Amino acid sequence: MFKEVISYIREVFNTPEEFIPLHAPYFGGNEKQYLMDTIDSTFVSSVGAYVNKFEEMMAEMTGAKYAVATTNGTVALQLALIAAGVKSGDEVITQPLTFVATANAITHANATAVFVDVDRDTMGLSPDALAQFLEANAEVRDGAAYNKTTGKRIAACIPMHTFGFPARIKEIVAVCDKYHITVVEDAAESLGSYVGNQHTGTFGKLGTFSFNGNKTVTCGGGGAIVTDDEELAKYAKHISTTAKVPHPWEFVHDVAGFNFRMPNLNAAVACAQLEQLDTILANKRALAGLYKEYFTDKEIGFVSEKEGTTANYWLNCVILKDLEQRNAFLEATNGSKVMTRPIWTLMNKLDMYQHCQCGDLTNSEWLEDRIVNVPSSFRP
Ligand SMILES: *Cc1c(COP(=O)(O)O)cnc(C)c1O
Repeated sequence: MFKEVISYIREVFNTPEEFIPLHAPYFGGNEKQYLMDTIDSTFVSSVGAYVNKFEEMMAEMTGAKYAVATTNGTVALQLALIAAGVKSGDEVITQPLTFVATANAITHANATAVFVDVDRDTMGLSPDALAQFLEANAEVRDGAAYNKTTGKRIAACIPMHTFGFPARIKEIVAVCDKYHITVVEDAAESLGSYVGNQHTGTFGKLGTFSFNGNKTVTCGGGGAIVTDDEELAKYAKHISTTAKVPHPWEFVHDVAGFNFRMPNLNAAVACAQLEQLDTILANKRALAGLYKEYFTDKEIGFVSEKEGTTANYWLNCVILKDLEQRNAFLEATNGSKVMTRPIWTLMNKLDMYQHCQCGDLTNSEWLEDRIVNVPSSFRP
């Protein structure tokens, strides 16, 4: 059965023998020209026209009022948490089924992660599991939520739109509002994914994106924060650029800031990539359509977008029967130079997050044993 899948993937990518990567970047537009512009202009670092243009493009395409460009998606999330008011000693709820950067950003913001289960169909944070967890573990005092077990403030919640499939974000926001918990969306994987007509990353107080080499579009390394809150946008930008107080020559800084601003070199490539986003998304959607048709009525399942949502189909997912079949599939595909990867090891199983509090994680564990990503690159 796996042999047949492998030859189908080879056929779809028109690659009879060579290695097929999981997700290769595609540079089909103005990348080189814009990159040369920055070099010719000498504005290669964090001040430059492309950084501003990139922020405008991100605001426009997500529908957020403001966007702030950062060096990568991990620090975008860290900055967003700090801007959201997360303080040392606070707790932040997220899903255990995520890329490690989500949990790391919480740690880097000096907070502690708490893991709550995902929905089986969206693979994103479950508003039901979240409501249950808070009902059992949280109390609201003085307009803030506190964890009854640890006594710590639950300051924020980070839902993540797994592989570009939108989580039930409106319901998540409604639960968090009830408990005065600020929502920061990790939309690193969901550029071009919508709930209704609204872009993922714009439902929470702040949302963050990544432009790493393996994402839907890339600028080598890069990230962005989006928000409708002018104060938060200004603050995030301020602390991302060493918190320098504007002055024609004096070096005055008013907090211990960061050097997290996206360089103009990267922004040039990011602008060229965003110009092609619609083309890239259409191409990826067509691939997902082929996979969906192929896997219909097969023993291997395929994950599709839910009604009322638009997924970007960043990484396509198949669902194997159990852990044993998953491992056999990974062996067979990778052994035949068709790159596939399992979904992540749950965060609560990693050394540095073993001590974190968890809700019931039945769905995360079920998915961990079964989900495998199959090749999802743009097909020229
Ligand atoms: C890629 C990714 C990040 C981090 O982005 P970088 O740009 O690689 O730092 C954060 N969260 C999730 C879910 C991601 O997939």
